[in-house]
Amino acid sequence: MLDQTRLIIQQSLDALLKDHSFLPELQGEEREQAYTSLGSILSTPNHAHKSFLRIPLQNGKVVRIPSYRVQHNNALGPYKGGIRFHESVNEDEVINLASLMTLKNALHDVPFGGGKGGVVLNPRDFTAKELHLICKKYVRYFNDILGPDKDIPAPDVGTGEREMDWMMAEYKSINPGLPYRGSFTGKSIINGGSLGRKEATGKGVYFTFRYLLHDFLKEQRDSLKNTTNKFAKTTLGYEGRELTVAVQGFGNVGAVAALEAYRCKDLKNKVVAVSDRNVTLYNKEGINIPALVDFKSKNNGELPMTEEQVVLAGVKAEILDREAVLYLDVDSLFLAALGDQVHKDNVGKVKARVIMEGANAPITSEADEILSSKGVIVIPDILANAGGVIVSYLEWLQGRETQFYSEQEVFTLLYDKMKSTLDTILPIFFQDPFPLRQNCYIHSVMKLSTVLYRQGKLY
Ligand code: NAD
Repeated sequence: MLDQTRLIIQQSLDALLKDHSFLPELQGEEREQAYTSLGSILSTPNHAHKSFLRIPLQNGKVVRIPSYRVQHNNALGPYKGGIRFHESVNEDEVINLASLMTLKNALHDVPFGGGKGGVVLNPRDFTAKELHLICKKYVRYFNDILGPDKDIPAPDVGTGEREMDWMMAEYKSINPGLPYRGSFTGKSIINGGSLGRKEATGKGVYFTFRYLLHDFLKEQRDSLKNTTNKFAKTTLGYEGRELTVAVQGFGNVGAVAALEAYRCKDLKNKVVAVSDRNVTLYNKEGINIPALVDFKSKNNGELPMTEEQVVLAGVKAEILDREAVLYLDVDSLFLAALGDQVHKDNVGKVKARVIMEGANAPITSEADEILSSKGVIVIPDILANAGGVIVSYLEWLQGRETQFYSEQEVFTLLYDKMKSTLDTILPIFFQDPFPLRQNCYIHSVMKLSTVLYRQGKLY
């Protein structure tokens, strides 16, 4: 996964090197040198911190839990990125996710750098008291490098507002007198969180989907018809007809995106499948998503797993295995669970022609290449799932100003920002041969490279 990001950064620099409107003042040998320097700066994190948290468990045992905070790049502002609690967390993954944050913030003009944290554990194996201690210890171990103007964590897989509240409280108590409201984002509203933060990523994912297949398509229909670009053909194929949608992952991101799709009036969507860590639920006539959201909220965050539970939830759906969601004959697939879900061994079975990356890095580079060669549009993570970090930025701003926005104001600012990025990227995407991910990377790398050069970081 790490190599995948590095490779795309290098490819973006390759493309930029040939473009003489990019840093025109650099020519000849100096340009070659700048290219090499940028390659090494952008493909390596500034810092990769690792600690083993000492945690006395309630059963009397003491364990050491590996934990990370990676600070990839802060040329654009303080490091920013979530903290993941998952048993598969490892250093390479955290580095990759931190570099994606740098690129994502650059792409959407969010004045933050990129960071990421991780703790190697399954939260379900710990009591609430133990998790509380783990959160406090994480802050204590990494206190020197965290702070509202240094590095601002947020929730990720396995963490949520409860953990952010705990962490902010610990940061406040060990740094008396220092500003603390902007030290963590994704907090509960009562603790300084932003309205709309919880829904922001899922809403942003769906906004991107709708914008491409409705607003942009409507406005740019003629220019799309006049190009031979294979992705333009795919997009035009979606015009005006009913669209079937399958969603992998029914957590923060997936459930909100599914609900948005279910409620959308601009597109004729039918959400025919959703899945989670246990099952896929499928009904070709469409599934009652609000009923599932309600069931999930009362059942430990899980979808119904048995026929009886499906009836109890008030939905009609077949129960399939959890991977089945990936291979259904649907128009669009939303990947909102974990990384590496579509890879070279299963990509041949994926039938959707528009794939939304709600999760980070859910498609491996080999699979991505195969999909692109077939004209499948993959809307990459750094473009589609930036809603969370955009509203985190708004939360950080609100915390600094102690002035809070209404939910409507938050969503308006979120959609304006995403629209502005889409209006920059989509016209270029439909004109050149690169997949959308490459277009986004080129845009981010160009911005970061220019900033790094102007900050004198290439000397
Ligand atoms: P979450 O923990 O709320 O939900 C994850 C969902 O995926 C759950 O429904 C879980 O049951 C399901 N899942 C887990 N393993 C699975 C598997 N093997 N197959 C199918 N489903 C599985 O997490 P989230 O906040 O919704 O995040 C989902 C993804 O989106 C992650 O990759 C995260 O990094 C990314 N992301 C989240 C945000 C955010 O604001 N929450 C922002 C950007 C990116």
